[in-house]
Amino acid sequence: KFNVSLPVGGNDELGELSVAIRKLATDLERMKKERNEFLASISHELSTPLTYLIGYLKVAMRNELTDEERNRYLSIIAEESNRMKDLMKNLMDLAKMDEMSFTVSKLKFPAQQFIEDIYRLVVPSFDLKDVKLHLVCQQDFQVDADPVRLEQIVLNLLDNALKYSEENTTVRLEIAKEKQRTVISVKDEGIGIPAEQIDRIFEKLFRVEKSRSRTFGGSGLGLAIVKELVEAHGGTIEVKSESGKGSTFTITI
Ligand code: ADP
Repeated sequence: KFNVSLPVGGNDELGELSVAIRKLATDLERMKKERNEFLASISHELSTPLTYLIGYLKVAMRNELTDEERNRYLSIIAEESNRMKDLMKNLMDLAKMDEMSFTVSKLKFPAQQFIEDIYRLVVPSFDLKDVKLHLVCQQDFQVDADPVRLEQIVLNLLDNALKYSEENTTVRLEIAKEKQRTVISVKDEGIGIPAEQIDRIFEKLFRVEKSRSRTFGGSGLGLAIVKELVEAHGGTIEVKSESGKGSTFTITI
């Protein structure tokens, strides 16, 4: 706890200093609270799958299981372990970004090639779920960004668009140039985000309803990472969404 009480006030310089110090103390107190909440969420995120893992391991070790049953349990264990690995990787990414020890290496590259490569990479998972992926690139131009980071951003947005879409809907991926800037949008016709929660989706570990995560998987870190990466480029991210109708994420860098 920070206890700051300075016996000064008024409008002189010492008075201003005491106000500034008090504000600093409140900020520190708030940061400490946020950090503790974040740590509590992380331990929860990690202990839930671990509890399942231990449960499945105990079952898989039973002698009376058939090979087929044992294999089924082992593949669930493998899947859950992979999810935990992804979560750890995302956490490490965020930690690096917080420390600013990660860098954005901008270079110029053609928009069309970039977006077509991404399209080819993800289209099989869209086909698997019977969601149509529609690519729009009206004209080629040079993008000025870190291609690895930008790919990470777009893949994250596409991953969400697919995850929160029903079959036989369309996701539209568009890249365009607007006043020397690159605008990429990902528009889906999925379940949408309730208006009262839309401001929170970029927070670390935030998910719209906890039950969604059980149905759809995910860690609630994807958009926090996307936002940090976009901001590291000096860019912006915007979201428009309507519950039950779909969402559009637009980044400008
Ligand atoms: P998650 O790994 O849970 O998807 P994200 O940080 O990527 O985490 O997203 C945070 C939350 O925002 C998600 O849990 C989901 O509820 C909501 N969300 C993100 N993208 C979409 C989308 N395209 N459609 C509907 N909801 C979305």
